[in-house]
Amino acid sequence: MPRTRDTSATCTLMVEVSGASIPVVVTRKRVKNLNLRVRSDETVSLSIPMGASMATAQNFLNRRRTWIAAHLERIRTRTQQRQEDADAAAGTIPLWGELVDASTLDSTDDLYRRELARRLPLVVERVEEHMGVHALSWQLRRMTSRWGSCTPARRSIRMNTMLAAYPPACLEFVVTHELCHLIEPSHNARFHELLDRFCPRNRDIAAMLKRSAREVAVARSSTTRDEGRHVTR
Ligand SMILES: [Zn+2]
Repeated sequence: MPRTRDTSATCTLMVEVSGASIPVVVTRKRVKNLNLRVRSDETVSLSIPMGASMATAQNFLNRRRTWIAAHLERIRTRTQQRQEDADAAAGTIPLWGELVDASTLDSTDDLYRRELARRLPLVVERVEEHMGVHALSWQLRRMTSRWGSCTPARRSIRMNTMLAAYPPACLEFVVTHELCHLIEPSHNARFHELLDRFCPRNRDIAAMLKRSAREVAVARSSTTRDEGRHVTR
């Protein structure tokens, strides 16, 4: 890290948590101790004493990985629970980026699993062909902290069944992301070059996956309505 950034009041450091790089906004304040916070919107911040170095901050963050992971997990579980309550109250659920009737549905989990099992093979076939790589096994799992994960040594990939709630482009993005790990296991510059090449919209889609599936579905349906009325913004 350049020396000049070391004296500024704020700086963003990255910490690897459960296989994902999490940005942490570090702010120098008139405090005695290092204070780490995970907010309900899943942002992480750290305040450090005026005289502390960014290297100290980074070491501190690296030692607090498990703590950060546990807090993010708790927030995500709570968000998901709220989401399910909202679904039940609304009588609709988000499916492939649209709100569908859920009044006769027994289990959202089962529906998402079935839907993902149906669509995944088609997407995998297309993306593998495009990328020229091949995974040996695909597993579907309901996960709270990640959309997918890959064990490159075994060429095995796990996908989060919750992806069925989001627009199909999100599934394609996660498939591409995990297949990129067969070429490059870590999230380095080479990995991002691959992802940019095979999924040019990856940044937009990653941003979409940070929002709730219901929110994404509602936003999409209002865009479609506006297009129908030829509203220009
Ligand atoms: Zn990854």
